[in-house]
Amino acid sequence: MERVRSRMEALGVDALLLSLGADLPWVTGYEAMPLERLTMLVLPSDGEATLVVPMLEAPRVEHDAGLFALRPWSEVEDPVEVVARLVGGRARLAVSDRTWATFVLQLQASLPGASWQAASVVTGPLRAVKDAEEVTALRRAAAAADRVAAALVAGDVAMVGRTEAEVAADLTARLLAEGHTKVNFAIVGSGPNSASPHHEPGRRTIGEGEAVVCDFGGTVDGYCSDTTRTVFTGGPPAEFRDLYAAVQRAQALAVEAAVVGTPCEDVDGVARRVIEEAGYGPQFLHRTGHGIGLEEHEDPYLVGGNCEALVAGHAFSIEPGIYVEGRWGARIEDIVVATGAGPEPLNTVSHDLAVVA
Ligand code: ZN
Ligand code: ZN
Ligand code: ZN
Repeated sequence: MERVRSRMEALGVDALLLSLGADLPWVTGYEAMPLERLTMLVLPSDGEATLVVPMLEAPRVEHDAGLFALRPWSEVEDPVEVVARLVGGRARLAVSDRTWATFVLQLQASLPGASWQAASVVTGPLRAVKDAEEVTALRRAAAAADRVAAALVAGDVAMVGRTEAEVAADLTARLLAEGHTKVNFAIVGSGPNSASPHHEPGRRTIGEGEAVVCDFGGTVDGYCSDTTRTVFTGGPPAEFRDLYAAVQRAQALAVEAAVVGTPCEDVDGVARRVIEEAGYGPQFLHRTGHGIGLEEHEDPYLVGGNCEALVAGHAFSIEPGIYVEGRWGARIEDIVVATGAGPEPLNTVSHDLAVVA
């Protein structure tokens, strides 16, 4: 909260209003439920913070009185008015990016003199730099996901004859068994579906001679895992081997390039150049990576146009891919932490193309 306040002062933000999303738990340890009832932390740069919370939710708040005051509101009160009174005359406001629009609109009507910006302007760069405890949590999450990825590339997760949805359910069960409290996603794209980066696993039965992209992750102690391995059912043809080799090389060189001081877009550029040289430039449809922490996708983004330099403590994915529409695709994804001693990959399962059944 101290770091948040000093950044608010530097940016000229008078009050931060945190509702849904990861900013609130990051600051207070309390996560608001996505309800129609308003939960909002009012954090002034110059005064005590107050958590405005529905009365029936108040018992769930582990309240640290030294950190913030608690203001439960009853069913017959107007929580927007409660927040507006706490804001008082403060005019330059920043509000959680994920706050329901209905509350932002009501607050804007109640505070007509205020100016508004997204809370991530304040919190994004702070949350992007993980402290030692957060890196430990990310490492634990990555290790749990890696035990599933290791089973996948070893061929322990049966593919041929099962539907994508069945394989996704298998991966989900394994993620939970390996210590995830919750699974956020399990993408399984087989055959032509492997060319769709965010394919929703469905009723397609996996056959022989197919690429299968498996991208999965969940949450351990609040922090996220996210890893991808691509396997092939049966012996892959030379054309796919070449495609996969380009992805593998792009991934490895981008990890090597992710050293402190390097602009995010340069890391993306390293992966993109390898894939372009292999002749698949237009088939690399997405950015090279995203930050990860309490959220699966957060700052910093490894994408063209982001000239922000990596600093020690940045945690992010490196996940280049090639997607040939109607045919096949491949992606390799590891989470990496930038450290003073160089990039540290948290996922360490082999990148070699696994032939499975
Ligand atoms: Zn993704
Ligand atoms: Zn992923
Ligand atoms: Zn990812």
